[in-house]
Amino acid sequence: MIARIVVATKNPDKAAEVIAVLAETMPGVESVDGVDWPDVAETGATLEENAVLKARVVAASTGHPAIADDTGLEVDALGGAPGVLTARFAGEGATYAANRVALLAALGDRVDRAARFRTVVALAHPGGEVVTAEGVLEGRIAREERGAGGFGYDAVFEVDGRTLAEIPEGEKNRISHRARALAALAEALS
Ligand code: IMP
Repeated sequence: MIARIVVATKNPDKAAEVIAVLAETMPGVESVDGVDWPDVAETGATLEENAVLKARVVAASTGHPAIADDTGLEVDALGGAPGVLTARFAGEGATYAANRVALLAALGDRVDRAARFRTVVALAHPGGEVVTAEGVLEGRIAREERGAGGFGYDAVFEVDGRTLAEIPEGEKNRISHRARALAALAEALS
């Protein structure tokens, strides 16, 4: 088992979740702090391509194994969109809030609100070897924003009647797409 890895994201919300979940799923792993890497453009056509791209660049530039995730929201009534374009649903550089507003507007009062979060995680070694794993969380898009926790689309993504922003952080980190992807990665490595 790898002892020290870089959590390859500059998004503090994602980094906090990855570190919390790693403590549960891979207790032997420690995150390396104080390293930097060049920004990586998410030019891949799939979540997997983007996760691998980010993990490889960060591993090569820091000299440590690196773990990256790429997450997409797939909404059935929108034909699976926004998918790989989830971060940019309301346009390049869109805020979390603007993306949520755009999603609620795109769905309007549609009855079919089924959706899922899909996360692909990639663990890359500085030499180039990569292992990937995926996690999915099924749910539905709420009719309005609810809850103060989480980040991104959490306030509009419902699981069993509560949005992810309404459930405690520890509970999100047990059930989330990201937690499931990291658990699958731990399984693949064991
Ligand atoms: P990326 O993986 O950083 O490309 O994230 C894609 C988009 O999904 C961004 O707009 C994130 O804010 C959002 N996102 C990623 N993970 C989550 C999550 O766990 N909950 C809600 N939104 C998320």
